[in-house]
Amino acid sequence: IPVVALVGRPNVGKSTIFNRLIGERLSIVEDVPGVTRDRIYATASWLNREFRLIDTGGIDLSDEPLMNQVRYQAEIAMEEADVIIFVVSAREGLTDIDENIANQLHRTHKPVVVAVNKTDNPEQRMQTYDFYALGHGEPFAVSGSHGTGFGDLLDAVVASFPSDASHEDDDKTIKFSFIGRPNVGKSSLVNAILNEQRVIVSNIEGTTREAVDTYFTAADGHSFTMIDTAGIRKRGKVYEKTEKYSVLRAMSAIERSDIVCLVLDAETGIREQDKKVAGYAYEANKGIIILVNKWDLVDKSDKLFESFTKDIRKEFQYLSFAPILFVSAETGQRLNKLPEMLVTIYENRHRRIQSSLLNDVLMDAVAMNPTPTDKGRRLKIFYLTQVAVNPPTFVVFVNDKELMHFSYERFLENQLRQSFYFEGTPLRLIVRERE
Ligand code: GDP
Repeated sequence: IPVVALVGRPNVGKSTIFNRLIGERLSIVEDVPGVTRDRIYATASWLNREFRLIDTGGIDLSDEPLMNQVRYQAEIAMEEADVIIFVVSAREGLTDIDENIANQLHRTHKPVVVAVNKTDNPEQRMQTYDFYALGHGEPFAVSGSHGTGFGDLLDAVVASFPSDASHEDDDKTIKFSFIGRPNVGKSSLVNAILNEQRVIVSNIEGTTREAVDTYFTAADGHSFTMIDTAGIRKRGKVYEKTEKYSVLRAMSAIERSDIVCLVLDAETGIREQDKKVAGYAYEANKGIIILVNKWDLVDKSDKLFESFTKDIRKEFQYLSFAPILFVSAETGQRLNKLPEMLVTIYENRHRRIQSSLLNDVLMDAVAMNPTPTDKGRRLKIFYLTQVAVNPPTFVVFVNDKELMHFSYERFLENQLRQSFYFEGTPLRLIVRERE
C-alpha cells in the first residue's frame, strides 16, 4: 500500500497532523501495538484508499544539530514514501529552514503536497498563498488543532498515489525478509543465500521505494523475492542507527513480505529486543520462521537443541505455529532447508478449505469440548467458513459474540490446525453474530 510521510521543521505541528490523519474520523484500519505507541507509523484510510503514514519528526535524532535532523528526516521521507506531505506553518510564515527543506525535496521524483498548518483564522488562511514560493504547487490550508482542511489535503495526497502501487501484490514470487535486532546476522544470511542460490535472475529496483530486492529462482523452480530489510545493504547513515528508524525499516519489510524470518542469535540467546521485533511480525499476520543463527558457534549437542527450542516456545508463546530452523550463515548449515520451508508456508497461507470440511471439524470440536455458557446462556456456533487466504481467515457465525471466549477461540484454532496443515502461518478467526 502507498506510503505517505510527513516532513517539516520542528514545531510546525507534524504530530498533531499525524494524529488527525489517523484519528477516528478517518477510521484507523490497523493499530500496531508498540509502533503506534511510538507514534511514528500507522495505517489510515481516506475514501477507501488505505495508506501508511510516517511521521519523520517522531524519529528521534536529538543528538544531531537541528539542521541535520531536518535534513535526515527529509531524506527518510524521500527514501520511504510514495507521497510526501511537507508541513509548514502560517503562524511563523515562510522560514529559511522551510526553503532549505523545499530545495532538498526538489531533488526527489516523489510527489510533494504542501500543508500550511496553523491556519486557525481567515487572516492566517490568506497567508497560505505565500507558500506557493516553495515551488511545490498549491499549498493546502489546514488546522491541526481545529481539524479543518484535511479533506482537500487528503484528496490531493490520494490523487498523487502511484498507479502501480498494487504491482507488488500481483507477482507470484514468494516474498520473504530477515528481521531481528542488530548483529544477529541478517546481512550475513542475505549474503549466504545469495552465494547458495546461484541462479540469481536480477536485482529489482523497488517499484515505489528505493529498497533493492533480490529475485532468484531456486533449483526446484520456485521464485523468491528477498526483501531488503534496509540498513542491511547500505549502512552507515546516521539516522539508520536510530532505534525508531530501524523499527520503521523492519515494519516496512514485514509488511511487504509473505513470510518473515525472525533471526535469533544462538550465542547470545533470546533478548528483550528479540521479543519486540517478533511482536511486530506477529501483529502483521505474516508467515513466520524462527531462524537460530550462528549455530556453528555453540556446542551442538542434542541437549542444547532441545533447551533452545524449549526457551523459544516459552518466550514466544504466540509464535507456536512457527517452525524453528537452526542455521549458520558462516558455514551455510541447513540454509538449503529454507527455500522448501518458505514454499510450504506459502502454500499453507494460500490453502482454501471447503466449508463442508470445516463444519465437520466444527461439529466434532463442539462434541468434544462443549461451548462456554454465561448466566445460563450457551454459545451456539452455527457455521464456519473461510473468507480469505494469506493469511487463512475464517468467519464463525454465533448466537452471541459476548459468549465466545478467547480460550474457546484458541481451541477452535487448534482444531483447525490439527485437521488441516497450517504450519508457519497465523490463522484469523472472525466472530460474527448471525441475524
Ligand atoms: P546484522 O546486523 O543482523 O545484519 O548482522 P551481521 O550480518 O552484520 O552479523 C553480525 C556479526 O555476526 C558479524 O561479525 C558476522 O560475521 C557474524 N555472523 C553472522 N552470522 C554468523 C554465523 O552464522 N556464524 C558466525 N560464527 N558468525 C556469524
